Amino acid sequence: MFDNAQIFESIDVGLIELDRELTVRGWNRWMEIHSGISARDIVGAPLMNRYPNLAEPKYRRLLKSVLSFGSYAHFSQKLHRYLIPLKNPHSSADQMPYMQQSCSANPLREPDGTISGMFITVHDVTEYAVYEQKLLEMTRVDALTRLYNRSFLDKRLTEELERAHRFGSHFSVIMADADHFKDINDTRGHLCGDYTLRRIAAILQDLVRSVDIVGRYGGEEFCCVLPETDLASAAVLAERIRMEIASEIFIWGQEQFNVTVSLGVAEYSEGAKSLETLVGRADAALYRAKREGRNRVECAEPSISRRSAEELEDCV
Ligand code: GH3
Ligand code: MG
Ligand code: MG
Repeated sequence: MFDNAQIFESIDVGLIELDRELTVRGWNRWMEIHSGISARDIVGAPLMNRYPNLAEPKYRRLLKSVLSFGSYAHFSQKLHRYLIPLKNPHSSADQMPYMQQSCSANPLREPDGTISGMFITVHDVTEYAVYEQKLLEMTRVDALTRLYNRSFLDKRLTEELERAHRFGSHFSVIMADADHFKDINDTRGHLCGDYTLRRIAAILQDLVRSVDIVGRYGGEEFCCVLPETDLASAAVLAERIRMEIASEIFIWGQEQFNVTVSLGVAEYSEGAKSLETLVGRADAALYRAKREGRNRVECAEPSISRRSAEELEDCV
């Protein structure tokens, strides 16, 4: 015959026993360790006094259904993150302050079948949640520059395009490509090339707003997606990026060097029905900037592309 009290205390799961008024009747050792509250201090008190978040309608409704209908309620980590706010006991605490939980509430019945209360189980699934977040990040982020990668950029661009179609909003795209980048690799080595890409990425990230998306589009090519931004404003930002990178001193060992970028800007318009058309127009402007001598900004619309660099600098 098992000793139920021993199992209750030693199991590696949080167990809380509640009566019909949601007053705590049992609080196992696991709950004591992770909450910092001893059974002596909480047994006999309403659980919601300690955890007022449980009074939220979404929790209250589910807990009530356990008592009224004898049903089983599940609180998934994906939907709720946690039911009982407990400190994350793992090394991931700085990125996830609270323990991520998979919880359930189950009815407790008298021998005659009436529901006398319930018990809640609390499973710590923090480590799985951290892995999941890391995996998700790996599918979105470029390992070298920590910017978004090409596939995530394409996804965000498609979303922006759909939003612009539906709501008549506008957005712009900047394509930036490092000038003569092959020379950096050839003369200073690939590690220096990698460092240069990381510096350019950091400068781009610094200059855009938090709502903008910056990604690495290809080898030494970057893309900025600027929601709610018209061509003229995007051109001003592109010019600021050009100037900032051109004036940056790159330091590699004992050597100092400069890098420039060429940029192409395009705004979503009725004509740009697809992603390919929009990116294609920004690309065409970028290659015009290359042809015209590099270290330049060119826009897809002729009226803006004719603006001189000085004119743009005045706007910065
Ligand atoms: P342009 O001014 O016409 O753009 O000339 P470019 O030399 O920048 O262009 P090109 O396409 O000839 O060369 C791009 C180089 O970028 C070649 C490739 O080896 C290098 N590259 C691409 N990805 C990486 C990377 O992750 N790290 C390093 N170090 N180099 C890279
Ligand atoms: Mg290049
Ligand atoms: Mg290139």
